Order: sequence, then C-alpha cells, then structure tokens
Amino acid sequence: MKNDCVFCAIGAGEIPSLKIYEDDVAIAFLDINPMSRGHALVVPRRHCEGLLDADAELLSAMIGRVRKVAGIMKERLGFDGFNILQNNGEAAGQTVKHLHFHIIPRRAGEQVAFAPGKADSGELRRLQARICGE
Ligand code: 5GP
Ligand code: ZN
Repeated sequence: MKNDCVFCAIGAGEIPSLKIYEDDVAIAFLDINPMSRGHALVVPRRHCEGLLDADAELLSAMIGRVRKVAGIMKERLGFDGFNILQNNGEAAGQTVKHLHFHIIPRRAGEQVAFAPGKADSGELRRLQARICGE
C-alpha cells in the first residue's frame, strides 16, 4: 500500500466507495465523476502506477476481472455497449497514479464526453443496488 494513494486507501477500506465487486486481487466501484451512467473503475488491490510497471500475471488477472465486472454490469443495467479506458501518464489524462480500468457504459444514440461529469449521490447508490442487489 502506498501512502497518499486514494485507490490503495479505497482498497483497504480507509476511504468509502460505492463498491460493486471485490475479491482478493481487485476491487470495482462507481466513479464519483462519471462520464456516463454506471461508469465504474476496476482497480488492483496491489499498488502499481500503470500498465508498464504492472507484472504480466497481475495484468492477466485484471483483464479477467474487467470482463467479469463488465458482464455483471451489462446484465444488471442493460446498456448497449461499453468502452474500456485505461490512462497512463498525466499527458494521457491519468489523474490517479494507481493502475485502473474504466468501464464506461454506452447507450445507443447517447453522446459521451471523455471528461468528468457531475455525480448525483442518490443515483450512484441506486445504480450500486441495481448492479449488486438480489
Ligand atoms: P484517471 O483520469 O486517472 O484515468 O481516472 C481517475 C478516476 O478516478 C476519475 O474518473 C475520477 O473521477 C475517479 N476518482 C478519483 N478519486 C476518486 C474517489 O475518491 N472515489 C471514486 N469513486 N472515484 C474517484
Ligand atoms: Zn495505490
């Protein structure tokens, strides 16, 4: 765990998040500034900065988790498609220096700006319940 790393702290449960999946390798939670409804992040528990300093074993575990979480989200939320976004370096828009994969739900005919949106905490909680509820 790296000091002052927000995603390490979320993984350790020190900072609250609207979790939608977790296991021993990864945690997934709703993005606080979503680019589209249901925008989520899949994050390894172990700290590394980005794609180039992650070892191959972790990366292959992570892409499996990304697929699993995207599949659950698509089934529960019923969107039409999704983008996976993974930023490396400030020049590429990386603001949190802990490897993460964005899952950005897409609905037919809806335009998405690849820029942070405004979160409505009530709506985020309702989305979490739809993805995780019985
Ligand atoms: P990046 O731009 O680094 O690829 O993406 C970082 C993402 O993390 C952004 O979409 C931002 O909204 C999200 N984020 C940053 N801090 C927090 C936080 O404390 N909680 C949650 N849920 N999302 C965060
Ligand atoms: Zn970290």
